[in-house]
Amino acid sequence: QEDLFKNVVSHAKEYGFIFPSSEIYDGLSAVYDYAQNGVELKKNIREYWWKSMVQLHDNIVGLDAAILMHPTTWKASGHVDAFNDPLIDNKDSKKRYRADVLIEDYAEKLHQKAQKEIEKARARYGDAFNEEEFVSTNARVAEYKARQRQILERMAASLGNNDLDDVKTLIEELEIADPDTGSRNWTEVRQFNLMFGTKLGASAENAMDLYLRPETAQGIFVNFLNVQKSSRMKIPFGIAQTGKAFRNEIVARQFIFRMREFEQMEMQFFVRPGEEMKWYEYWKQTRLNWHLSLGLGAGNYRFHDHEKLAHYANAAADIEFNFPFGFKELEGIHSRTDFDLKAHEEYSGKKMQYFDPELNENYTPYVVETSVGLDRMFLAVFSNSLKEETLEDGSVRTVLRLPSVLAPTKAAVLPLVKKDGLPEIAQQIVSDLKWDFNVAYDEKDAVGRRYRRQDALGTPFCITVDHQTLEDSTVTLRHRDSMAQDRVSIASLKEIINNEVSM
Ligand code: ATP
Repeated sequence: QEDLFKNVVSHAKEYGFIFPSSEIYDGLSAVYDYAQNGVELKKNIREYWWKSMVQLHDNIVGLDAAILMHPTTWKASGHVDAFNDPLIDNKDSKKRYRADVLIEDYAEKLHQKAQKEIEKARARYGDAFNEEEFVSTNARVAEYKARQRQILERMAASLGNNDLDDVKTLIEELEIADPDTGSRNWTEVRQFNLMFGTKLGASAENAMDLYLRPETAQGIFVNFLNVQKSSRMKIPFGIAQTGKAFRNEIVARQFIFRMREFEQMEMQFFVRPGEEMKWYEYWKQTRLNWHLSLGLGAGNYRFHDHEKLAHYANAAADIEFNFPFGFKELEGIHSRTDFDLKAHEEYSGKKMQYFDPELNENYTPYVVETSVGLDRMFLAVFSNSLKEETLEDGSVRTVLRLPSVLAPTKAAVLPLVKKDGLPEIAQQIVSDLKWDFNVAYDEKDAVGRRYRRQDALGTPFCITVDHQTLEDSTVTLRHRDSMAQDRVSIASLKEIINNEVSM
């Protein structure tokens, strides 16, 4: 698993997906740049989300609010007072960690132990194995699961009450050690606000303190009535947005999983008070189905229902994904009540109410939100797709089995040799196809090596032009995953490829 993660990071750099930010100056911690292929993959994920949320839902519209907002926004939302993470320093190594992440990692290890027992039993009993029965009767598995639950519950309770001493005691009791050095010499736990501050205005006296937004959601809340009135939407309806968010994260050791500048894809769904649980369940399932539609394997997802709720929520769940470093949050689904709209009403003095023509009454809508990190989606898709395969002849190929709809380049056109008019035909095919999707042209090296290069980039199709093409206008169409090769006419390429790669 650790090797896989290292491969993911180095493959992303070597093949032009992700570079460390300002690398010539040794980089900036937890900030990354998307390179020529990464930017295409990221754009395709964003579009896949946008299409399913906005284009396919009559009652959801888009928005692109500014990153900078009036600072009172963040007073009202609670971010100035309560957007904290519990921070703990190691006295020996001078390294800084998030106390809750250390505890969660410990709990995850217990979960892995239980899983191991289950897998061992499954291997032993084969077809006769009944997982549910095994889990309910095996003492060791029951104990692992119970301890995992107790630890998480206790952490949630102490953090909920802001009892940071108890968080520290828990770390000591569990004998959690520094993941990098093994030392257990911690300082006290304290709260750390994650917002980045900046200033608006030229002169020091008149400058206004601003924040870089830590989530895109507030741009939607403050625009709720503007959108509702100008679109004449009726409840239930949603507003969707993708865009940058900024958090001064304490732990920054998992590549693009936890960044200081990242992108969110969020949707706020406004509903009648009292109907929020129905919509919460609806969006939990709908969002899980969206993830499953990419075909990364149903076993790689699980729900985690929150016991500890944020100050604004009455129900919350994560969709977790099996990253190379274990199951971690990929998306959050939150029932946010009327907390945000009410708070903005109070702080701005402006009414944020909706007149419901069916009920003939005014009320503050409740909100169910879905929030997924675009960069985390990228990491999920990229790490799950990267495979090393041993072929029949014993050679190893590296292949990025990206879902075709997300692949940066859909086809590469390769003249078999650099003469006899083959490059010209290949260039003509590129010119015809590039209006429909991204196409690459490659004439360097032997064709086998060119296939491997495209495999590593995740290109679903290679189109090879050879001498037979001169006679009958057919080409070889090679499929990335099966490596099967078909002979097809040049005229049919567009349709065949479009069928496979379009959203
Ligand atoms: P975590 O517990 O991992 O810090 P969170 O619960 O604070 O995440 P939310 O505030 O619910 O996250 O944000 C919604 C989504 O935004 C997350 O599910 C995640 O995909 C993404 N996200 C949050 N913080 C980051 C980050 N620092 N880097 C990349 N993506 C992030």
